[in-house]
Amino acid sequence: MPEEEMNRSERLKLLGYEPPDKSDWVTGLHPLDTMLRGERLPHIWCQGCGLGIVLNVLVSSLQWLEEHQGWDLDKVAVVSGIGCTGRIAGYVRLDSFHTTHGRALPFATGLKLANPDLKVIVVSGDGDIAGIGGNHFIHTARRNLEIALVCVNNFNYGMTGGQVGPTTPHEARAVTTQYGNFEYPFNLPYLAAASGASFVARWTVLHARQLEWTLREALVHPGFSFVEVIAPCSTAYARWNPEGRGLDPEKLGRRGLETMKYYQKIGRTMNGCHPKDADIRVNEKGEIVEIIEGQFVNDRRPDLRAAMGQQIAQAQKTWSAERKSLDQREQLAPRKDKVPRSEVQLGGFGGQGIISAGRIIGLAAAVYDKLEACFTQSYGPEARGGAAGAQVIIASEPIHHPHLIEPTSMIIMSQGAYARYAPTLAPGGTLFIDEGLVALPADHRTDITTLGISATQIAEREGSSRAANSTILGLWSAVTGIVRQEAMRLAIAESVPTKTVELNLRLFDIGFEKGIELVDNNG
Ligand code: SF4
Repeated sequence: MPEEEMNRSERLKLLGYEPPDKSDWVTGLHPLDTMLRGERLPHIWCQGCGLGIVLNVLVSSLQWLEEHQGWDLDKVAVVSGIGCTGRIAGYVRLDSFHTTHGRALPFATGLKLANPDLKVIVVSGDGDIAGIGGNHFIHTARRNLEIALVCVNNFNYGMTGGQVGPTTPHEARAVTTQYGNFEYPFNLPYLAAASGASFVARWTVLHARQLEWTLREALVHPGFSFVEVIAPCSTAYARWNPEGRGLDPEKLGRRGLETMKYYQKIGRTMNGCHPKDADIRVNEKGEIVEIIEGQFVNDRRPDLRAAMGQQIAQAQKTWSAERKSLDQREQLAPRKDKVPRSEVQLGGFGGQGIISAGRIIGLAAAVYDKLEACFTQSYGPEARGGAAGAQVIIASEPIHHPHLIEPTSMIIMSQGAYARYAPTLAPGGTLFIDEGLVALPADHRTDITTLGISATQIAEREGSSRAANSTILGLWSAVTGIVRQEAMRLAIAESVPTKTVELNLRLFDIGFEKGIELVDNNG
């Protein structure tokens, strides 16, 4: 039989999946048998815990979607974080992953982005989602990626013994707040909606039918959907907060069931209400006295992948135009000489074009001279007027360390940059200064060559001081010869605004001629 015609069990058999003992995992006695990993049962949950119902409702919803909407359950992934709720991922016989504490949503985001055909469901507790993973929760909601999040809220960290958590009601008791919780809890539907979730709902666990109908909708919702399920933690939270049970010994003995019934009784359905009003109201003793439930938000707006797709389509158009102009770049004859690793430090203040000058050197080296080049930049605490530095490494061989070790040449256009960088120039290296802006001190280094040009003055005279960096680049290029003159000219023409190309090239040529003169004079 072709694989696509097989049912789930037949496909699993084909994959060679054999449970330890068949009778343990599919008994045929329960309609949900095939959806559960029987070999992992019985579950770990306490008597009277609400989590069994949540598991039941989740798999029922999935079975319904398989039957009525043709869902392929092999394309469903269930992700959870740490905690009692997190065990659900391990019990469902689907692709599932039990992640680290609070990280279920980033993991799910990766799954969905890498494999958009997957239906990704996160099932985790309030501590995991709103406490440890709170930051991931708001950002996943904000992105509106198509993930369904079922958050089971039992008002405390149940698995670790009932510590207070981000949803513990004000004045309610927990093992770590035995005199009452002095903090205020999150209203999770309000938080989800305010963060950007496009489907938001809440039910108590005994509203199982409404919960299943809601889950069916949430699972097919084309965006981030958030469903909060209020479920009792019979062992921890209900021990400290005997809501609705008074002192009746029989009721105290079955506190899980009694609490479930109590939550159901005080639930008030308010479909469509603003999530801000979806309160869990408590009295002055911290007893929950009303739970607003229902479907609060169901918006249709592009999910993250759709929004990314739109931008990619737009970027592709722009990129193809850019690509065309890059492909048409002028090509220079290949260099035959070898360039040893050369490190250039540039320094000045913001607005002098220090960063641009470094980038121009890198561009000329990498694109036009076909050398290896690495460019990094740094600014002072403020950009314009503050310290600016750029570093370029050029070599014929691959550059394995992208940071300067000891600069071999240096372009300096301010006194501050001189003080900072000049001591780091390699002995025997060459220092290029704007001599109108940098005054050499009496103890200036004698183990280096220092060459100056009044770059800013010349640029001012020729039309704009803002192009002074081209003058000093001309000087540097002529003296060091690391990058060819023509490569520098092409890189300048490509980098500066069209209307200033002529000025910048003229200034580069002035600097270059001065450099040739200096080289000739110094032999
Ligand atoms: S500790 Fe609480 S939440 Fe955990 S399994 Fe027990 S009752 Fe359920």
